[in-house]
Amino acid sequence: MNTAGSPDFLQIRSDFPILNQQVHGKALIYFDNAATTQKPQQVIQGITDFYTHYNSNIHRGVHRLSQESTRLYEEARQKVQAFIHARSEKEIVFTAGATASINAVATSFGDSFLSQGDEILLSQMEHHANIVPWQIVANRKGCSIKVIPMNDAGELLLEQLDSLLTEKTKIVAVSQVSNSLGTINPVKEIIEKAHQQGIPVLIDGSQAIQHQEINVTELDCDFYVFSGHKIYAPTGIGVLYGKERWLEKLPPYQGGGDMIDHVSFEKTTYNQLPFKFEAGTMNFVGAHALGLALDYVSAIGMKSIMEREANLLQYATSQLQQIEGTRIIGTASQKASVLSFVMDQIHQYDIGMVLDKMGVALRTGTHCNEPVMNYFGIDGTVRASFAFYNTEDEINIFIRGIEKVKLMFG
Ligand code: PLP
Repeated sequence: MNTAGSPDFLQIRSDFPILNQQVHGKALIYFDNAATTQKPQQVIQGITDFYTHYNSNIHRGVHRLSQESTRLYEEARQKVQAFIHARSEKEIVFTAGATASINAVATSFGDSFLSQGDEILLSQMEHHANIVPWQIVANRKGCSIKVIPMNDAGELLLEQLDSLLTEKTKIVAVSQVSNSLGTINPVKEIIEKAHQQGIPVLIDGSQAIQHQEINVTELDCDFYVFSGHKIYAPTGIGVLYGKERWLEKLPPYQGGGDMIDHVSFEKTTYNQLPFKFEAGTMNFVGAHALGLALDYVSAIGMKSIMEREANLLQYATSQLQQIEGTRIIGTASQKASVLSFVMDQIHQYDIGMVLDKMGVALRTGTHCNEPVMNYFGIDGTVRASFAFYNTEDEINIFIRGIEKVKLMFG
């Protein structure tokens, strides 16, 4: 905390050892946070501690180490439950990540609740991870995909929702925040409208969980998914939140150890929630590390993180807008700290390469959002995405880099 009572983000930045290095002889400026976030020492140390002191398979041992690792794994589940305000631990399923979570719902829900002629409603700005699993199940079941369109600012046209939600619609799946545009979607409104017609809603929280407070109970979504690596935890761990009554109804989508109650060659009965959906040896160290990452951001405070990142976005946006020949893609009134842009006559890869030489790590390309790129008639953008550990000084260097690109290629 500084004297004004807000967190000291420069001090906080020193928790991230990777940021303290040089790339091409320049201080690393990491603006690729929407792709994955960096890990604080507290999380890195927690992983080392786990392997040093507790490593043992969970749920299966009477011995001390197994009990300890099981305790840490289940504590992590409680931390996730508290963090997203789920009603019960039974509603928190650990997965490998958001993609795995969406595939689990698409497969399991699809098998039980979709049939020929049904419709699945997505949005124009979905990540491929929230399109392709639905297409696979739609092809298998003879369903069709419908899409909520958007406007040139990258805002969903909610006035079209009423006509898109029909008696054929069986599920709605939308992202809370767009990874390429930064748009914060009015998901509560979408959920309410869908529920008026008894249609369940999956929210892809991959780009929201790290930026704002999430309350799944208040949102009333039926499913909520996210990946640990987007919120300062390691890769290979993620979460599928599902309302208990939905998870009870859905069949398991993978079979194996731990998800069973009893097995015989004639018949298998399944374990209770949430274990019914956790087949095989889970990434228990990753789950523990995710719990530590949630402790970490909670100690800073999601409200403070939100404010800090809003300021960074606003500053970077205003600076970039002053450079003639740049066009921001994604100008919604409600945005998370994602700044996508293109430059007249200059290819995104050239921009990315020049910036890289200045130590600035940006993402270029379609960002797994080809339908968004098609909408804007472009083949990609440059995307700068900010986390609370970024600074205005870094943004200044990035802006100087863009000016340099313009001189070189413009
Ligand atoms: N959904 C959105 C909006 C994303 O931004 C991402 C990753 O960038 C995903 C889903 C997929 O996440 P993961 O690759 O961690 O499973």
